[in-house]
Amino acid sequence: MDIEKQVKETIQKYNLIKKTDNVVVALSGGKDSTSILYILHKLGYKVQGLMIDLYLGNWSKIHNENMKQFCKGLGVPLTIVDLKKELGQGICFIKSVLKKQKNLTGCTVCGITKRWVLNKWAKKLGADKLVTGHNLDDEAQNVLMNFLKGNVLLGVNSSPATGGKEVKGFAQRVKPFFFTPESEILKYAKNKKFKILFDKCPCAFGTYRVETRDWMDSISEKEKKDIVTNFQKRVPSLRRDNQKKIMECTVCKEPSRSTICNACKIFVHIRR
Ligand code: AMP
Ligand code: ZN
Repeated sequence: MDIEKQVKETIQKYNLIKKTDNVVVALSGGKDSTSILYILHKLGYKVQGLMIDLYLGNWSKIHNENMKQFCKGLGVPLTIVDLKKELGQGICFIKSVLKKQKNLTGCTVCGITKRWVLNKWAKKLGADKLVTGHNLDDEAQNVLMNFLKGNVLLGVNSSPATGGKEVKGFAQRVKPFFFTPESEILKYAKNKKFKILFDKCPCAFGTYRVETRDWMDSISEKEKKDIVTNFQKRVPSLRRDNQKKIMECTVCKEPSRSTICNACKIFVHIRR
């Protein structure tokens, strides 16, 4: 599969990015975000990297260093946000407090924290678009997890492009790999000999997401594509009937679907 061609087609079909856009790519240091930064740069988009130093020991140190080298090699600016400066704590502490006090699992806490920091910093950097490396497997997992939780409505905002200029306070998030299988991105990154770590996040174990990911290994790429594309057909009507109004979080002033945003509901426990 030619994933560069597929990215081009997804961008065109969903009108994801314009050539004049200031494109901020959220870089984890893994294969997906590194590859999408590389491809967008190759296609002539004006890109810059944005990375959160999560303080996951050596794993973070290596990822940070790899991304510094990678961006320097491409001549692309990189901003690294220090989570301890942002929130006073690294991600491990935040996760353990939330596990103990609220029984929230790691991936949920990490996801909410990352989304909040990335949105805030993308706006600071004047981003027209905030790109993430989410791929077809991630999206299929989301659809299935929401279904297994008995709440398909959690997927109401699932799309290659979420938020937008019309949604005040959100840097528009776009996912050019929405229809690209993880296995193809892995092949691409290995072929290109990117100097990155291919290990999975050391903290992601024993969570619902990881269990879903594991049993999803047994279904074919075609089935994953069917799950995602069929769900996409339902999204517009789900959205019409279930869209919640966006308001300003009364604590941090970031956009939120309730008076206090999900991030602040979490952060209150680590600030005590
Ligand atoms: P994950 O939640 O680890 O599967 O990552 C999904 C996407 O979120 C990645 O492809 C990146 O675009 C972004 N992301 C994950 N971790 C970070 C990080 N530490 N800093 C910036 N962006 C990240
Ligand atoms: Zn808030």
